[in-house]
Amino acid sequence: MVIGAGECGGRAALALRDLGFEGPVTLVGDEPHLPYERPPLSKEAMTGEALSIKAIATDALFAERAIRHIHSVRAVAIDRAVHVVQLSDGSSLPYQKLLLATGSVPRTLPMPGLGERCVYLRTFNDALAIRAHLSAGNRVAIIGGGFIGLELAAAARKLGAAVTVIEAQPRILMRGVPAEIAEIIHKAHEAEGVAIRTGQGIAAIADDGAEVSITLADGQAIVADLAVIGIGAVPVTALAAEAGLAIDNGIAVDEQLRTADPDIFAAGDCCSFPLAVYGGRRVRLEAWRNAQEQGALAAKNMQGAEEAHAAVPWFWSDQYGLTLQIAGLSDEGKSIVRRDLDDGAFILFHLAEDGRLVAASGIGPGNAVARDIRLAEMLIAKRASPAPEALGSQAVKLKSLLAA
Ligand code: FAD
Ligand code: NAP
Repeated sequence: MVIGAGECGGRAALALRDLGFEGPVTLVGDEPHLPYERPPLSKEAMTGEALSIKAIATDALFAERAIRHIHSVRAVAIDRAVHVVQLSDGSSLPYQKLLLATGSVPRTLPMPGLGERCVYLRTFNDALAIRAHLSAGNRVAIIGGGFIGLELAAAARKLGAAVTVIEAQPRILMRGVPAEIAEIIHKAHEAEGVAIRTGQGIAAIADDGAEVSITLADGQAIVADLAVIGIGAVPVTALAAEAGLAIDNGIAVDEQLRTADPDIFAAGDCCSFPLAVYGGRRVRLEAWRNAQEQGALAAKNMQGAEEAHAAVPWFWSDQYGLTLQIAGLSDEGKSIVRRDLDDGAFILFHLAEDGRLVAASGIGPGNAVARDIRLAEMLIAKRASPAPEALGSQAVKLKSLLAA
């Protein structure tokens, strides 16, 4: 059984069948939809004619694969002793192996004064509600200069709304994105007319149901028709915690995605795991590709394989015509080699103190950095220590470093 019908849970259910599992597969999700892709919700889906769901599977595919998808129902308790999950509709279901793919939810802003014009973006229904306010002439305030906030700012500008981004830190994308790349993104937003207020805490919020008035720490007031709060995500762990499973910045699993209970696995945004490529450092990743990879790996290990998660973290973001890609963990980098490319693209390599390549971050138009980031990812996976001069020289092809 899989709890959580998102990116990870949906992929895991399909993978169980792909791998030849013939027993019953049940996918329980509390949203009313088929599992769907979240990334388009802050990007292209938001600016299209009508917002539509990009589903991971159809009802017909689930029927063909004999996957029972129970939607709009929440798993409320796990009785590990008898291998039974209780659901919010009063029913209960037995399991042999259980995958928790409960994802994450937006971190809430702990302030008085929030009302119906102050919203978060996580689900398709959230996106629908936000889309209704993104039109020419409307004013949108975005609290949080992270990925949700900046991608949504780009979408809102495309639709003609006036946008202000408020970020408490001294710069946008403080966590996980190098300053040089954050600056490129900052300039792109300003060029598109977004007002960015960094280093600004919020002193007060007043929402009268028609508009929101945000008073910044420096006394400045921002009035908007809608305030979207994007200040991070927190893993959904209560179900696991109440079942007595260990929580450590997410549901704690081993490198095979297994909890301390041999019949319960966790994967995707909700879990923390030891990352082999970084010496077993425990991390939690909130990224689309990780959710897919871990869903597939959990499906394998639920059937008796004992494979460790060995992938290098990777994610991307699209804003205007720019695509950002980061492979590895850039916060580990001790020394940095720059590489400016001809077409306006930009790549930074991050080397650990021992010279090992630990991350590569790139930004550029369209797919400009995709190939180099992919090669860097392979170098990171190999735990390579390429010469900094070679990484910095456009004359040296990354592929040749891989061969070495
Ligand atoms: P989720 O997708 O959160 O799915 C978990 C599901 O479980 C949810 O439907 C939840 O309601 C359900 N659930 C939770 N508890 C229960 C319960 N007890 N019973 C039943 N159901 C339950 N990543 C990138 O790498 N690049 C991007 O560009 C990008 N863009 C994004 C844009 C947006 C707007 C958002 C919100 C996320 C984006 N991400 C992006 C992150 C990526 O979508 C997530 O990392 C991914 O969705 C995680 O998948 P998951 O299945 O672990 O969790
Ligand atoms: P995020 O990327 O962590 O960014 C949140 C930002 O808001 C951080 O810079 C944070 O600073 C800041 N912040 C925190 N509290 C604040 C406050 N009180 N006032 C103003 N700013 C504040 O998270 P997110 O953008 O909200 O995204 C939520 C989830 O969606 C994450 O899982 C994310 O990975 C996912 N997502 C991913 C993508 C992508 O990968 N392209 C796109 C959209 C969404 P601190 O660092 O100091 O907390």
